[in-house]
Amino acid sequence: MFKQATLEERRKYYREEWDIKQVPDFIGNFIENREFGFDHFGRGPNDRYKVFSTLDYLKRFLRSKTPFAAYCSVAYYQKPRRRDGWMKSELVFDVDAKDIPIRTCGCDDVCEICLNEAKEIVGGLIDTLKGDLGLKNMHLIYSGRGYHIRVIDDDVMGLGSDVRSQILKYIVGADVPKDKYDDAAGIYDLQHFSIPLGYPKVFTQRVKYGIFHLTEDSKLDDVNLKLLKDVIKYRNLLEDDEWGLFKNRIGPLRYKKIIKGIASLNMSLVDAKVSIDLKRILRLPSSLHSKVSMRCTEIKNIETFDPFKDAVPKFVWERED
Ligand SMILES: [Zn+2]
Repeated sequence: MFKQATLEERRKYYREEWDIKQVPDFIGNFIENREFGFDHFGRGPNDRYKVFSTLDYLKRFLRSKTPFAAYCSVAYYQKPRRRDGWMKSELVFDVDAKDIPIRTCGCDDVCEICLNEAKEIVGGLIDTLKGDLGLKNMHLIYSGRGYHIRVIDDDVMGLGSDVRSQILKYIVGADVPKDKYDDAAGIYDLQHFSIPLGYPKVFTQRVKYGIFHLTEDSKLDDVNLKLLKDVIKYRNLLEDDEWGLFKNRIGPLRYKKIIKGIASLNMSLVDAKVSIDLKRILRLPSSLHSKVSMRCTEIKNIETFDPFKDAVPKFVWERED
């Protein structure tokens, strides 16, 4: 694993192990409206604008070309060969283990620890998409070195980039909620952690996750090492949600700094470019991620999914070195 697949191994994978049935229905059912793209030499997907009118043609192509990587569009087009006549696009959130801004592993690439952290983050995002935004129809894909959440509810597939960016900011907790609320009786001070619903609740959850994954090497805007160390020292108070106490220990001004720092860091939990790009191509579930020799695969049960068991192709176990 984490070693590049040879051409021989790719052939073995597509001709002996891969099965067209592993392509999820949500892709197969609209295959004629999608653009496919391929990377044949490991230099990026430059063979694009491919269209397959049936799964059988896709099967023949993959068996004979055994590409380094295979992708398909999140968009449906009337004329996918020209990327023309855009109909709608899946709403996608891409969490790459390598790019998580707060990783406790400190590895150079990806490892078991950061892949697990990516999975935890994705679990939180899915809860918010379902619980807060009422979305129902989504598929979770292990990409080979992270996760893709692909939402196909009709309500979101027609949305433009601006709204997608707003949804992204909401679910990752990228903005510090306001703390002044007013009504006829006057102005109230309400901290995010004392509001148990809506965006403040999401924000509180994300900040908590962030605080528990800080290390002394974490880099946050406007947060010095002394503050970082104090946050780490007192964060156990948040295990019991003692936010008020935690804020007092840190001091209100420094508390503001730390939540602001985490909010801006949250923006890089998900690759925003992928979420707002209506014409993106994404790695095809069932295909081989040749760079790391893992299978891109749909996840049926996030609780039990283990990439080191469920996404490892047979040829990896058969390697001799
Ligand atoms: Zn790692």
